[in-house]
Amino acid sequence: MEWKSFLIKYAEIGVKGANRYVFEDQLMKQMRYALKRCEGEFEVRKEAGRVFVDVTSEDYDYDETVEALSRVFGISEICPMMQYEEKDIENIRKEAVAYVGEVYPDKAFTFKVMCRRGKKDYPLDSMEIAASVGEALLAAYPEMKVDVHNPDVYLYVEVRQKIYMYSVAIPGPGGMPVGTAGKAMLLLSGGIDSPVAGYLVSKRGVALEATYFHAPPYTSDRAKQKVVDLAKLVSRYSGPVRLHVVNFTDVQLAIYEGCPHEELTIIMRRYMMRIAEEIAKKNDCIGLVTGESIGQVASQTMQAMLVTNEVCTLPVYRPVVGFDKQEIVDVSEKIGTYETSIQPFEDCCTIFVAKHPVTRPNPDVIRRHEAAVKDKLDELAKIAVETEELIVCRM
Ligand code: ATP
Ligand code: MG
Repeated sequence: MEWKSFLIKYAEIGVKGANRYVFEDQLMKQMRYALKRCEGEFEVRKEAGRVFVDVTSEDYDYDETVEALSRVFGISEICPMMQYEEKDIENIRKEAVAYVGEVYPDKAFTFKVMCRRGKKDYPLDSMEIAASVGEALLAAYPEMKVDVHNPDVYLYVEVRQKIYMYSVAIPGPGGMPVGTAGKAMLLLSGGIDSPVAGYLVSKRGVALEATYFHAPPYTSDRAKQKVVDLAKLVSRYSGPVRLHVVNFTDVQLAIYEGCPHEELTIIMRRYMMRIAEEIAKKNDCIGLVTGESIGQVASQTMQAMLVTNEVCTLPVYRPVVGFDKQEIVDVSEKIGTYETSIQPFEDCCTIFVAKHPVTRPNPDVIRRHEAAVKDKLDELAKIAVETEELIVCRM
């Protein structure tokens, strides 16, 4: 079938009522953005409270288009659809027979025709149209059977400015359109967890910026490139990600020299949070996002998170906090970040780790040890913020 239109279904609309049009307009904006990267010309329009895509060019790439739409948060289903100008019932019956003939080579299935009328002045009502189309299909294809309760196929016929016909639904990613929920700062490392965390927060409509801490020459340009690649992969869902690359080497070395080694990771993480928060506030981000999951490593026990969390005033979102590692891996495979995440490049956190990091840090003790070098660390952190490098990541 040569599909030239799509009906877009959306499920959840946040903070409903008067905000509905905000949701729909943002959804349409994100769809247009996604389609700009596809071959062909498209029109995204709203009709009677529903969103449609019409292909306006001769040629386009169906698979590429569906793939692009299947990454737009807010979409629950993408239904490829036919449109017919001729609205009389004889023509609808004829087109329905042709439609089924082409879309379903094997006719051994049960079906139900569902009809909706936008124009109430049509001579037949919905029930009559559905019955007539069903009758035409049964006459053309005797192998087909009607099942009104649990059919294999629902064939939808809608009478509007034109006749719309569709029966296939391709799942979208769900969630809410990016841009309906503010902006967050993702602490993005080269690992498996933080890209998944970014994806999950963005799925709720949140736009993303990201901060990456690198420690040259202890971490290489390849490690940094890996994070850029991950940000680009996440941007296929979230839209462009402004990635702030922070040179963390001097802060890390100063912590290494001035603090007990079993507390290195905790104090280092406190500085990561402080720096990320400062960059977040400068860039209108109203939350931080990390890929932490309770108990995954020493720095992610609840006691450790209590100590790292206390340095922030912005809320810290940890969308994978309750996920097992395998569950995080499953999402990363689904969204296409896994293969990049497992590339073996050194991470700044792993270079300075102690053999036996504290797993139940005492906040008072950590604060005291940190205080001994805090002036110096704050000065170095300030320089790190001032010398950040900004990379805009998009596919
Ligand atoms: P990930 O797979 O996301 O790297 P992880 O299991 O390796 O997570 P940690 O290294 O303890 O866990 O890091 C916990 C979280 O801290 C990460 O998910 C990420 O949000 C943030 N983080 C860690 N290292 C960095 C870094 N170099 N730059 C930016 N954020 C980081
Ligand atoms: Mg990591």
